[in-house]
Amino acid sequence: MAIRLFDSLTRDYRILGQREPGAPPISQEHPFTFYTCGPTVYAPAHIGNFRTFLVNDVLRRLLELEFGKDRVKHVRNLTDVDDRTIGQAKREHRPLSEITRHWTELFHRDCDALNLLRPHVEPTATSHIREQVDMIEVLMRKGNAYRAPDGSVYFKIGSFPEYGALSRIRERELKVTITVADDDHKDDVGDFALWKAYKPEEDGDVQWPGPTGAAAGRPGWHIECSAMSKKHLGNTIDLHSGGVDLLFPHHENEIAQSQCCNGTTFSRHWYHSEFLLVDGKKMSKSLGNLYTLDDLKAKGFSPMAIRYALLSGHPRKQLNFTLESLHAAESAIATLSLDRARMTTFTKDAPASLSSRFDPVLASLRDDLNSPAALGALFIATKAGPTKPGDLSAFDRALFALGLDLSASPIQISAPAEICALAERRWTAKKAKDYAAADALRKELAAAGWSMLDGKDGYKLEPVKK
Ligand SMILES: [Zn+2]
Repeated sequence: MAIRLFDSLTRDYRILGQREPGAPPISQEHPFTFYTCGPTVYAPAHIGNFRTFLVNDVLRRLLELEFGKDRVKHVRNLTDVDDRTIGQAKREHRPLSEITRHWTELFHRDCDALNLLRPHVEPTATSHIREQVDMIEVLMRKGNAYRAPDGSVYFKIGSFPEYGALSRIRERELKVTITVADDDHKDDVGDFALWKAYKPEEDGDVQWPGPTGAAAGRPGWHIECSAMSKKHLGNTIDLHSGGVDLLFPHHENEIAQSQCCNGTTFSRHWYHSEFLLVDGKKMSKSLGNLYTLDDLKAKGFSPMAIRYALLSGHPRKQLNFTLESLHAAESAIATLSLDRARMTTFTKDAPASLSSRFDPVLASLRDDLNSPAALGALFIATKAGPTKPGDLSAFDRALFALGLDLSASPIQISAPAEICALAERRWTAKKAKDYAAADALRKELAAAGWSMLDGKDGYKLEPVKK
């Protein structure tokens, strides 16, 4: 009963939650710490973004089941100042904070519709300027960062020999990957901005006092995650996750900043989910295949079906998203809703009772977050014979792990009390071998539009298909 997860840094499967000797074990005081890179709030998030957030959400749910709800601390940041947010504010002639507040609200609305658990802390870059400046000053003092002629501050990658360990990028490749186009103040092309000096023609009214010795301006993008994870989760975190597109340079830079500043391991485990393709192609505005949640809702799809479809591929493999896959997901959700509704008509579990019926679902998730296998196991389990006590609770636990909220589904069947009473009488008659009475009651039920499916230890009530 442990979560085995691929680690992008060591390129191996490792058990989550194992800490080095001397580190306190996971407890309420020292919870499992989990950091996820969040969205940049300047436009609607698309389903490729949401695939990453959904994978992280399943991970979060699994961690809660594994270590306890109160022993997990999840932080996901909001990037509310960078070139894109400032650019959007300028285009719309509105203050930056107004733009980012608007898109944050819409992001939250979409997250709620997709049943994503809210992170425990959702820090914003603009409310952590002090923390970022402090970190940059430490890096400057230690010789890992330098001031450029224009007053910007850069991280000196030559000062950190382990640079490139996560992405395995070599120096030669680095020079090809990063062009000098964005800046000509750097000592080395691989160096990246920690602090960007204010440029009146680009930055409008967005600026803060800089680190000692630097110009006024704004933080570079990478430093916010290092500063916010340090503030809210400490110097060493248990797990850092994000989309594979963030692996280089963002996560590589986070490691460099944090480890040089704090002098210790930044994250014990790194997890990256793969790209989403739409109709076999990379998403892009020009191809018209860049769907937002609103686009798909307008086509009549439910958020739960979208969630299901996005979990139907292995998180570490590219997933091809199509509208056909959404139709299939919609009917899968309807089937599961029906199964659950039937289960509830004749079993009332004590909240703590759990059968082992749905254990394969959780076992699949614990094995490198294999969500397609978990969904398959979910269907097999619902078909595995008559329901026994503890099955409904186990079903609900499996649904929780996958984040499938079936109450949102339009299909609701619950038999009225008088139908349940008739069914009980028929079941009792059948058990007493009073077949005449049982038959009469069956006819009575059929006339009322209900049929009973008998199992060995119980029965299911379902509406007669018209
Ligand atoms: Zn980040």
